[in-house]
Amino acid sequence: MSMEERMRPLLQQELADSRKSRAALASDIDSTSDLRRDSNVDDEHDPEGSTIAFELSQSGTLLRDTDARISELEAALTRLDEGRYGRCETCGAEIAEGRLEARPWTRFCITHAGSR
Ligand SMILES: [Zn+2]
Repeated sequence: MSMEERMRPLLQQELADSRKSRAALASDIDSTSDLRRDSNVDDEHDPEGSTIAFELSQSGTLLRDTDARISELEAALTRLDEGRYGRCETCGAEIAEGRLEARPWTRFCITHAGSR
């Protein structure tokens, strides 16, 4: 089985999981926002209000991270379809299999991973 054939189900699984957590997060944020509205608390001065605000900002960050992950995974699947998967976008070298197994969505070899 080629590397591409092995990575495709991994990427699809990871994408399905990320979409699931995104949906769960979004509904968490919805209900936390409702709670915040209903309780009508003062964010600045009420300790409960600042806890809710903090939770919302944490969830917001997580949601953005999850969105970013989803687009990376979708892009990786596109590269797989187009036969460009597993090559560094900076130098064109083949990305080590161990690295792809750990981070199947990666677009860079280990040398260029930190340079974007
Ligand atoms: Zn590279």
